Amino acid sequence: MEIQENIVAGTHVWIEDPELVFIHGIVLNIRGQEAEIQTSDGNMVVANLSKIYPKDVEAPAGGADDMTKLSYLHEPGVLHNLATRYEINEIYTYTGNILIALNPFQPLSHLYDAYMMERYKGVPFGKLSPHVFAIADAAYREMINEGKSNSILVSGESGAGKTETTKMIMRYLAYLGGHTAAEGRSVEQQVLESNPVLEAFGNAKTVKNNNSSRFGKFVEIQFDKRGRISGAAIRTYLLERSRVCKISDPERNYHCFYLLCAAPPDEIERYKLGNPTSFYYLNQSNCYELVGVNDANEYLATRRAMDVIGISRKEQDAIFGVVAAILHLGNIEFEKGEEDSSVVKDDESKFHLQMTAKLLMCDPGELEDALCKRVMITPEEIIKKSLDPVAATVSRDGLAKTIYSRLFDWLVDKINVSIGQDPHSKCLIGVLDIYGFESFESNSFEQFCINFTNEKLQQHFNQNVFKMEQNDYRNEEIDWSYVHFVDNQDVLDLIEKKPGGIIALLDEACMFPKSTHENFSQKLYQTFKDHKRFIKPKLTRSDFTIVHYAGEVRYQSDLFLDKNKDYVVAEHQDLLSASECSFVSGLFPPISEETTKSSKFSSIGSRFKLQLQQLMDTLNSTEPHYIRCVKPNNELKPVILDSNNVMQQLRSGGVLEAIRVKCAGYPTRKTFSEFLDRFGILLPEIRKQNYDEKIACKWILEKMDLKGYQIGKTKVFLKAGQMAELDAKRAKLL
Ligand code: ADP
Ligand code: MG
Repeated sequence: MEIQENIVAGTHVWIEDPELVFIHGIVLNIRGQEAEIQTSDGNMVVANLSKIYPKDVEAPAGGADDMTKLSYLHEPGVLHNLATRYEINEIYTYTGNILIALNPFQPLSHLYDAYMMERYKGVPFGKLSPHVFAIADAAYREMINEGKSNSILVSGESGAGKTETTKMIMRYLAYLGGHTAAEGRSVEQQVLESNPVLEAFGNAKTVKNNNSSRFGKFVEIQFDKRGRISGAAIRTYLLERSRVCKISDPERNYHCFYLLCAAPPDEIERYKLGNPTSFYYLNQSNCYELVGVNDANEYLATRRAMDVIGISRKEQDAIFGVVAAILHLGNIEFEKGEEDSSVVKDDESKFHLQMTAKLLMCDPGELEDALCKRVMITPEEIIKKSLDPVAATVSRDGLAKTIYSRLFDWLVDKINVSIGQDPHSKCLIGVLDIYGFESFESNSFEQFCINFTNEKLQQHFNQNVFKMEQNDYRNEEIDWSYVHFVDNQDVLDLIEKKPGGIIALLDEACMFPKSTHENFSQKLYQTFKDHKRFIKPKLTRSDFTIVHYAGEVRYQSDLFLDKNKDYVVAEHQDLLSASECSFVSGLFPPISEETTKSSKFSSIGSRFKLQLQQLMDTLNSTEPHYIRCVKPNNELKPVILDSNNVMQQLRSGGVLEAIRVKCAGYPTRKTFSEFLDRFGILLPEIRKQNYDEKIACKWILEKMDLKGYQIGKTKVFLKAGQMAELDAKRAKLL
């Protein structure tokens, strides 16, 4: 870029810095491609011109509420602007129509009270300070005025504030579209109360977030002709199943387990519960309590929310009975019996077996068999093969995970039936709260699916940002034909192409009983050896790396085959579909002969791919709005902003990509009067007379001999570097 040509002695700049990402300094000297700079912390550094960026010395003190108003739209400018605002508790900033939301990690209740809702109602977008209500309001107005469905896509890494933001949007929409007639349970109340219920069963404390959603969620709020909420539908994605049986310190299992252990005494007695420390599924971690949360109160609150949603008391008892059963199930231990068999270990384990059977209303002997034995059908006979204690434990955990995920699905279905869909609704607002891009030390099938989701959403985002850019150019009637944008179709092909993509190859591997993860990986290495987005890491026989838009992620393939297979052990299915409790047997409807025969196995990857496609189809039929949530630090503390961390999120959240799209065209746009305020000095003659603003701008630009800029109907569009060039000329005159 030609920005650097305008860096001269005396220029204020940002220099790349390993710790702070960018540090402010003043250029003292330039020799060839090197600049000598005095940094604001008092050091002298020499940096290559390609590593320094001009700093806008005239940036407003409190920061700009819209990044596109920044004179220099580059990474340090963006970061500095967010940091400046965060310092004064301005957590929201626009980049055009995209809202960037920094998690304040402290309650800012005045930001979300009734007065604020009233204030934002019906006010044109951009008139008031950036706010999540402004986005929700814009979506609502657009829906009413244009009769078109809208969607709000909330993204960000774990703990960034997606779920809180989503709840705020739902509250605001309920406020706009609520019924005045206050019947006991209005649709909007049910929609709102679905949150605590889903959170009790689908959220848990993790290292990243004390209330982390372990599933993705798309809430579709339907409106009638008069703009009132008339129905809603909730779709969920990929609940984390492994957490039910395996947690590590200092995380917790799903909230509902702890809530139930804090239930009133008569319920504790009925379910034979007690201290959470006595249950294996909870005591693998030393964390039992959440700061600022009272589980006993939460238990009652969850029950009340269930009342509002329309889950009967009888159903609630059945639900918590199942939750208790899972805790008892986890305490059943096995020891070696005769030969390679296993038996329930001791009296304590036997007690938990009895309790599990009682709560699930099935026969204890059959439960024990389902855990410890497998039926083998050979052409000659049917034999019962014993499992060793290790295999029996795996079987136990498998049963716990299956029951829990069925319970969660039941809750989602129940909420949907209870709130009800409006078949006549023509317009809806969809709100998406889904896991952000993940890259850990060790990445497995879950991260693969999550990152696949993010690739899909990124493509949608890119296409729409590009479209919005074009609209801006079109409205200003300027030429825009040569703006390119980065497409990630090649990564999507790598993952989902049929046939031949990774998911398809995984399904293929799952269908051969003899496949191993190693030969699955070999197949990937062969197939994609020339693919730009695929890397076989050195010194590995089974890892593979995908070059995602947000960076490289190395996946361990060991558990891919297992995790892709969605099947319920036949013995478990038979046991529970025969339960005398209709709620439990309802979770395990009998499988018809046909499905067992026709589908060799059901693939989680393929089903997820299909769900995602349906989601994309829905989103594509709506007008999208984007909210990028950013987590300012990993300590979950207010005020602190960790630059490296934030920069990384802006990169992977596509915010910088959006900025790049703007930079590829005209990164700086100033209204005629803004432009004249700043650069009128370059052509003193025009100050004396009252010229038309547009003509005055044109004169200045011509006199400065710039090329390639454009003048629209209300704004000047400058190419990258031109702002710096004008500033440099102006500086000489000041
Ligand atoms: P995510 O869904 O992105 O993982 P959450 O929405 O659960 O993150 O937010 C994590 C935590 O951050 C919340 O429990 C809350 O304490 C805090 N938080 C998030 N957004 C806000 C906000 N707008 N105001 C105050 N606190 C917030
Ligand atoms: Mg969440």
